[in-house]
Amino acid sequence: MAFIGAVKFLLQHLLLLCLFNYLPFSQGKQNWNEGYPFIRRASSLGYNGKSGGYDYIIVGGGTAGCPLAATLSKKFKVLVLERGGVPFNNPNVSFLHNFHITLADTSPTSASQYFISTDGVLNARGRVLGGATSINAGFYTRADPRFIRKVGWDTKLVNESYPWVEKQIVHRPKFSDWQRAVRDGLLAAGVSPFNGFTYDHKYGTKVGGTIFDRFGRRHTAAELLASANPHKLTVLIHATVQKIVFDTKGKRPKATGVIFKDENGKQHEAYLGNDRQSEVIVSSGALGTPQLLLLSGIGPKAELQKLNIPVVLDNQFVGKGMADNPMNTIFVPSKRPVQQSLIETVGITNLGVYIETSSGFGQSKDSIHCHHGILSAEVCNLFTKFTYCGYKITNNVRDLESTLECLTVGCCCKSLSHTIRTSLFMQLKMTCIVFSQNLYVHVS
Ligand SMILES: Cc1cc2nc3c(=O)[nH]c(=O)nc-3n(C[C@H](O)[C@H](O)[C@H](O)COP(=O)(O)OP(=O)(O)OC[C@H]3O[C@@H](n4cnc5c(N)ncnc54)[C@H](O)[C@@H]3O)c2cc1C
Repeated sequence: MAFIGAVKFLLQHLLLLCLFNYLPFSQGKQNWNEGYPFIRRASSLGYNGKSGGYDYIIVGGGTAGCPLAATLSKKFKVLVLERGGVPFNNPNVSFLHNFHITLADTSPTSASQYFISTDGVLNARGRVLGGATSINAGFYTRADPRFIRKVGWDTKLVNESYPWVEKQIVHRPKFSDWQRAVRDGLLAAGVSPFNGFTYDHKYGTKVGGTIFDRFGRRHTAAELLASANPHKLTVLIHATVQKIVFDTKGKRPKATGVIFKDENGKQHEAYLGNDRQSEVIVSSGALGTPQLLLLSGIGPKAELQKLNIPVVLDNQFVGKGMADNPMNTIFVPSKRPVQQSLIETVGITNLGVYIETSSGFGQSKDSIHCHHGILSAEVCNLFTKFTYCGYKITNNVRDLESTLECLTVGCCCKSLSHTIRTSLFMQLKMTCIVFSQNLYVHVS
């Protein structure tokens, strides 16, 4: 019996070892391009490469760009140009436990590009295939049907598209103790009913989907490219588009191609075919898209002229109406290690208040003085300064420490529900409750 027990023990550990070794290596340099033979470095085009005959050129292989490319390639010849590299062989991108490390990496080669808005809010954007799905908190939910109607999309088509994405990259979360505690806190604060686990946008408290699987491995929008037609798709990484080229001879300017540079700084050109339906599609994110349009001469005439950019089309709206979507972050410090979890439980009210929560992502005491991008201690300062009540909430939360043990087992959520109620009362648009050890929060 003892022998059988020992063999069982060994086999179990061998299995675990294989699993842990397999996960990182399955995304290693050697393997990823087998699944995506159409992805190449921009420099592989050689010196001053010119390519043409595309039905669609997609600028930005991010959250929108990747599924678009996969779908269009079923019928058309498609080129995707992405300024970043691939997410597959990057452990910082691939694993939930490294979520904060990517955001804290402010180096020029990081998958996350750190920036500060003109209003002084720290933020980050994706600089890698898969875009912000490679750096974000991974929460997945279907859109509010009212939003779909408001923007005039085809509801039937949208509803058909959801399962296509969900089957490939969305998972049901494991549901940690902290997420359970927040669920109880939300319900006690009146954010009801409890809608259980659902992808649908429903008022009340719910558990949504996540792009992290049960091993904590991230599945980005880049994986949606696996369903593309490999014979009709080319994806160039490290390809930064600098300008859209237009034919201005007709009544209205028509995009004919793009100029981009590779990772060695060499310039290349790519052109559409002669089909009148062919298009350059700019899906470079909320900041990258207007930036590229402006650089290409589409935007407010006076501003373009001031910058000596030849005007292709005078459009007053390009680059306007940008606003931060500030989040009120409530930090709940813990003296003990806390299990890591990203957004799983959310509270949604019909007043447009949205409450989410994460746990276990702290900072070390030594690193507090370093630059940590979006995860800097100063983030708390800025976000809580956003409203006076935010500042007060943060102070209240410090008193929560004594009840944390109860909170984590989900049996006492009085303090938590009080905090949530305050947030609801103030109608703070978005609140994130962060529970973690090593939170060196400066409240000024
Ligand atoms: C830290 C963080 C956490 C978030 N958490 C969540 C969450 O949990 N759930 C959720 O639903 N949303 C979340 N979001 C928001 C969500 O990720 C983004 O709104 C969404 O991914 C944006 O998609 P996009 O296609 O517009 O842009 P992106 O996904 O950013 O794609 C744009 C792509 O274009 C590329 N690009 C830009 N300029 C050029 C150029 N000139 N040439 C070539 N390529 C270019 C970029 O490198 C990028 O890959 C989060 C965002 C952040 C930053």
